[in-house]
Amino acid sequence: MPEYKHPASEQDFEQNFASIKPLMNATEAYYESSRCLFCYDAPCIKACPTEIDIPLFIRQINGNNPLGAAQTIYQSNHFGHACGKVCPTEVLCEGACVYNHQNVKPIEIGRLQSFATQKAINSNKKMFGLKPNNGKKVAIIGAGPAGISCACELRMNGFDVTIYEAKAQPSGLTVYGVAPYKITNQEVLEEMAYLQNQFGFTILYNHPIATKQDLQNLEQQFDSIFLGIGLGETSQIGILGEDLDNCFGAVEFIEQLRMEHHQVQVPQNVVVLGGGNTAMDAASECARMGSENVILAYRREKEAMGAYDFEYELAKTAGVKGLFNAQPIEIVGENGCAIGVKFVQTTTQNGQLKTIENSEFVVPCNWVIKATGQSKRVQFLQMIDGLELDSKKRIVINPNTYQTTNPRYFAAGDAVNGGKEVVNAVAEGRKAANAIVNCNL
Ligand SMILES: Cc1cc2nc3c(=O)[nH]c(=O)nc-3n(C[C@H](O)[C@H](O)[C@H](O)COP(=O)(O)OP(=O)(O)OC[C@H]3O[C@@H](n4cnc5c(N)ncnc54)[C@H](O)[C@@H]3O)c2cc1C
Ligand code: SF4
Repeated sequence: MPEYKHPASEQDFEQNFASIKPLMNATEAYYESSRCLFCYDAPCIKACPTEIDIPLFIRQINGNNPLGAAQTIYQSNHFGHACGKVCPTEVLCEGACVYNHQNVKPIEIGRLQSFATQKAINSNKKMFGLKPNNGKKVAIIGAGPAGISCACELRMNGFDVTIYEAKAQPSGLTVYGVAPYKITNQEVLEEMAYLQNQFGFTILYNHPIATKQDLQNLEQQFDSIFLGIGLGETSQIGILGEDLDNCFGAVEFIEQLRMEHHQVQVPQNVVVLGGGNTAMDAASECARMGSENVILAYRREKEAMGAYDFEYELAKTAGVKGLFNAQPIEIVGENGCAIGVKFVQTTTQNGQLKTIENSEFVVPCNWVIKATGQSKRVQFLQMIDGLELDSKKRIVINPNTYQTTNPRYFAAGDAVNGGKEVVNAVAEGRKAANAIVNCNL
């Protein structure tokens, strides 16, 4: 089992969180691009939610035209650089590569994509012709992948765009949530600066839209409003002891880690509750921060976990241990602090999860991290007149127009799809922008 020491400096942090998809050099990119078969029906394009013309950009890289390749990428996906690094390519573009059927390693599409976009970001050349101003103004709430993607596309079409962002930095969970071994803060923020320079939208940071009055002000000043607000904080499980000190949400822990890096102190023993990708990230991150004993506890069997297999494998390589069929029933505390998790063993019978009588046991720990999903921003959404939510509290939209049930408001990303990937939010934000372009507001 690998052992990570607590990083004492930024340099140590970078070492513990070294990129799992490092940038290619020109020789690697040339070699890798020359392996592409340029399939006529390109299954990789169909597997990419933003439908990038992958064979075209790979051909451009192979012809020593990385800026042309970057243009091809950005025409379909404004988060081209981030997506090359954070997309679960194993189940998207690379998972569809025909080489998989021939027991040959698929083309490294994500890394080729980041190779080309990095060149564009470094060059900072103007690449996109914006249409003249059409006099229409759109307010965007949230500078995450959905909001920024929508902003870029609207600016291409001559709209005036102002983004209101609650936090101090752009890109939403790309900088505040995604694991640092996928993308660094610097890589994310350089692409954001590049986009702002190319497209010229305005972002107001530390500017939450928080009250009905804030919303009414936007309704008066703008023709349309786009909601790219994502999801909220970690959901409660609803068991005893959840409010104890040292028991907290994965999203909150990861945000702190992304902002404070080596300054975050982790204890020796950590239990992470959950079986999704966020649980894998939180567990992996604790191990890389120097926790010696990280247990990932899931209430069903391993095969039922929502996380991608490769994310679990990655967590295991960092030293994380899985505990399955263990349902948490109480966070055990002493003097107001969590000191363990009480579990009951479970089994699945005819698809139904059953607890086993008298099988309770306690796993002692210093921290409990709940990776039990993110809540929806219901309180905020209820302030918007006529805005409907579905039974899972997702914003209801017309899938053709991205319009909510209040026609002045459009929406996309996690707040609509319930929580997918960066690339989905980017694709939907762009489609919503085109719907705004084509509507008569
Ligand atoms: C821990 C974690 C790890 C992840 N890892 C990956 C990964 O490796 N790869 C991947 O593809 N996807 C990953 N995802 C999913 C991905 O990050 C999201 O699907 C994506 O960021 C959603 O984009 P969005 O724009 O809809 O929302 P967000 O990224 O959440 O952005 C919403 C923005 O709106 C702002 N906001 C909210 N309310 C207001 C308000 N009232 N006023 C002003 N601003 C507001 C927020 O501050 C935020 O900046 C991960 C998610 C999590 C939680
Ligand atoms: S955006 Fe993501 S899914 Fe699409 S081609 Fe790029 S890496 Fe693959």
